[in-house]
Amino acid sequence: MSLTDFDRYPLTFGPSPVHPLERLTRHLGGPRIWAKREDCNSGLAFGGNKVRKLEYIVPDVLASGADTLVSLGGYQSNHTRQVAAVAARLGLKARLVQERWVDWPDVVNDKVGNILLSRIMGADVRLDPSGFDIGIKRSWENAMEEVRAAGGVPYGIPAGASEHPLGGLGFANWANEVREQERELGVFFDTIVVCTVTGSTHAGMIAGFAGQDRPRRVLGIDASAMIERTREQVGRIARHTAQLIGLGRDLREDEITVLDGWAGERYGIPVASTVDAIRLSARLEGMILDPVYEGKSMAGLIGLIGSGDIPPDATVLYAHLGGQPALNAYAGALT
Ligand code: PLP
Repeated sequence: MSLTDFDRYPLTFGPSPVHPLERLTRHLGGPRIWAKREDCNSGLAFGGNKVRKLEYIVPDVLASGADTLVSLGGYQSNHTRQVAAVAARLGLKARLVQERWVDWPDVVNDKVGNILLSRIMGADVRLDPSGFDIGIKRSWENAMEEVRAAGGVPYGIPAGASEHPLGGLGFANWANEVREQERELGVFFDTIVVCTVTGSTHAGMIAGFAGQDRPRRVLGIDASAMIERTREQVGRIARHTAQLIGLGRDLREDEITVLDGWAGERYGIPVASTVDAIRLSARLEGMILDPVYEGKSMAGLIGLIGSGDIPPDATVLYAHLGGQPALNAYAGALT
């Protein structure tokens, strides 16, 4: 099997844009920094990394005969918002479990941003008091039972679409897309920086790049604040995806790099380096990052350049995975 043997249901505009971050590069004074923009990859509710994963899951949804997508995330989940959009696009229902993953004081946290968009798109949004976890959750299994009991046919998509057998394929394809764009642009990105939480974005990239001729570093910046769980999940999904796409060898431990130091103490709570990274990217590049994910991975990129771990002669591709709709729910962190 190879990646091209898997059906892909197009939900994106095509290859996502790649562009240099010239003022940020000058400001940090070292490696050349570019961005690849999953935050504007699709017309579906502002897009994001889950749209790419769902491109490879939708054929299985359609084959299953399901009438309801069932998924879960935090109140401000980008993932459930993208599931709601895909359900709308396909003419299916969406049943979303929105858990209290973050104890955040903004009173509008369960009303604006992602959750508002999911409600506008007609999803059946239910709040649940359960806390953060990146694995399979009881609340999600209960929601599937409820859909069945009401005569519906559910299709379950786990948090972040990561613990789904096909969850890594979207970003294995991203790796191929990068190679094509490098050819067109005449550049080689020796270092990729990506935010990682439920793991299949980073894992898919690792599997995809592992099949290419020129080695590169694919650095995952943990934003889960559960580093061991995330490392295990990224490694497991990367190995599974590599097998699916016929890599033909085991991944080495040094190909799976999940770094801590920028997540703070808890998932979903921005720390000083997050807020600084958000302001810096916005003020130098007009590029907007969110306080849960991309603010933390950009803080990681800045930190790794500062420490010399990413050397001055590197060429870095920062994977912007989306997430801006959450910003309004975090006004208190940024004003
Ligand atoms: N960035 C954004 C904006 C996200 O919504 C997510 C989702 O969890 C991530 C990064 C992390 O991706 P993953 O869950 O595949 O590790």
